Amino acid sequence: MTKFYFIKSKTQLLFILLVILISACFINNTAQAQYFGQNKVRYKNLKFKVYKTPHFEIYYYMRNDSLLKRFAQESELWYTLHQQVFRDTFKRPNPIILYADHPDFQQTTAIDGEIGVGTGGVTEGLKNRVVMPVMETNQTTRHVLGHELVHAFQYHMLLGSDSSGLGNINNLPLWMIEGMAEYLSLGKRDAYTAMWMRDAYLNKDIPSIRDLTESGKYFPYRYGEAFWSYLGSTYGDTIIVPFFKNTARYGLEYGIRRTFGYDDKTLSNLWKNSIINTYKPYLKDTSQIPPGHRIIDNKNSGEMNVAPAVSPDGKYISFLSEKDLFSIDLFLADAKTGKIIRRLTSKTSNTHIDEFNFIESAGAW
Ligand SMILES: [Zn+2]
Repeated sequence: MTKFYFIKSKTQLLFILLVILISACFINNTAQAQYFGQNKVRYKNLKFKVYKTPHFEIYYYMRNDSLLKRFAQESELWYTLHQQVFRDTFKRPNPIILYADHPDFQQTTAIDGEIGVGTGGVTEGLKNRVVMPVMETNQTTRHVLGHELVHAFQYHMLLGSDSSGLGNINNLPLWMIEGMAEYLSLGKRDAYTAMWMRDAYLNKDIPSIRDLTESGKYFPYRYGEAFWSYLGSTYGDTIIVPFFKNTARYGLEYGIRRTFGYDDKTLSNLWKNSIINTYKPYLKDTSQIPPGHRIIDNKNSGEMNVAPAVSPDGKYISFLSEKDLFSIDLFLADAKTGKIIRRLTSKTSNTHIDEFNFIESAGAW
């Protein structure tokens, strides 16, 4: 599964403190709400066709030929890249179910459970199907595709081995699975992950492998990616498959011993030192108190306040927040004082709105 927590400030407003409470959004969307008899609402009856490439069967319904062809080319390109790491070949074409946009994807019946706005795509284990929408930008579509295809290779590796099966996935911590998918789809250098690691260093909160695995506090996508990036840079990407396989087979602790020859504490310390050595120089001259003043934060609004948009006259600001209960709504505030004037609209009061995409959108004046 790919989840995104991008914050895009669409304005030049520098003085807003964006407080993101990741744990509030980090809910496994495929695992919840699967009780009997509940079906997803489907507004459209989509007529799927199949587009075949050497390694994929792409189920699509969109009429945009050039978009589909580019998507097909990118699928093959990712296949070539991932194949070099996994050294594995798909004997049968892997299905990809492609939706034209995110709302259509949320109505999919290919997977159980509700899909939130933060879920970019899903790869399911049994049929190895990748289910995803065309995203807002080509770059994001490419990333989600690359990420999900890593999962397809991971499943393929577990199922194709004599000594492991799908049950072995329980031995693999989430940071290993999702972090690898991020690492192999974003590369060694990712500004977004670097931002999180800088923050971890600044707050002296760099987790050990045990913390990553057990505490639930550390977002597995970002920390996992940083960890794999460290392993890839230090030991080479040829370490990926043996480490993954050893962990699937023997569990994390013995998997580390068998792959690296030392224990998890030693590996944790090596990683921690590498984070410190990387980010310490950047933070030498950093002011730890940001300039400006806070106008919106968890005291007068929600834990998560994102996508600020200032009115053309500079007097007002609109932003998305989960201030009231659990849905993310659009609020209006005074741009000078931060006083909340009112809630502009909400998915609970407006029946035409299913969800605000707080990751990719903002208010407009
Ligand atoms: Zn994933």
